[in-house]
Amino acid sequence: MDEGAITHNTRLLRRRIGPHVKLMAVVKANGYGHGDGATAKAARAGGADAFAVASLAEAVGLRRQGLQEPILVLGHLSLIDEAHACLRWRLLPTISTLDQARLFHTVASRSGACLPVHVNLDTGMTRLGVPWQEGTALTQAILRLDGLRVEGIYSHLAAADAVDPGLTRQQQQRFDQVLAALTNGQPPRFCRHLANSAATMTDSGLHYDMVRVGLALYGHASAEHLEGKLPLQPAMAVRARVTILKTVPAGTGVSYDHRYRTQRPSRLAVAAIGYADGVPRLLSGRMGVLHGGRRLPQVGPSPWIN
Ligand SMILES: *Cc1c(COP(=O)(O)O)cnc(C)c1O
Repeated sequence: MDEGAITHNTRLLRRRIGPHVKLMAVVKANGYGHGDGATAKAARAGGADAFAVASLAEAVGLRRQGLQEPILVLGHLSLIDEAHACLRWRLLPTISTLDQARLFHTVASRSGACLPVHVNLDTGMTRLGVPWQEGTALTQAILRLDGLRVEGIYSHLAAADAVDPGLTRQQQQRFDQVLAALTNGQPPRFCRHLANSAATMTDSGLHYDMVRVGLALYGHASAEHLEGKLPLQPAMAVRARVTILKTVPAGTGVSYDHRYRTQRPSRLAVAAIGYADGVPRLLSGRMGVLHGGRRLPQVGPSPWIN
């Protein structure tokens, strides 16, 4: 993992959104496999203001690794212990139901605290979040609970990387509709956020007060037409050592089940890596390997060891 690449990508994204928009680095699932603590620190060095994770355990893990910035838990928390943990570790839970709001309010007010929360509006993803038609009523109900403070309102885009912006427009309209009902023409008193990486790269009209970037942070675009929008650097490289070279005649079966057979006399290099190391078996015989800058085909089933 190349921390420098994460810092570089964060700086590019930061420049893209400008000084008035916050950058939340999404480091769920162990930083998309890159290591969450190291990713978070590298993103912070590049100007990240806050972090997002999927689970409570991931959030507590970041605190234990010394991250002091705001951490939003995107996943649905609904247990008393989870509410206590949010208070204890200063974590921002996502609220999507009234039951959940009441539980978090009760736990917070019993400890004499006021817990900042973010409300998730389902504007068309049809996954987490309160259906947008009920978003205004839920948020107003939360505003009446003195144990909670609505710090943010967000939604998640289902097709920000699509060439056709239709669904994104529809989701944005629904998002705006709820925001308008809540603010009544006054400046909003909460942080509004909608954009993932694709939306951050394509449309500044989707940036609002903060963007939540994952994939771009790690140096990848989620669709071909987004590649080259920003000179992102991939942070992950998988390296293996060439251990043995062998020259074999045409028609030689290679690796498990001899699923590959050489078409001509071939020189094979054995790379010391396999599926036990995380090489996906689905890519067997379909991968390319860079060797001294030259792209070579990987042949045969991905082995479990050399
Ligand atoms: C994972 C996630 C993101 C980041 O998405 P990318 O496409 O990786 O930038 C943003 N918001 C939510 C709610 C997510 O779950």
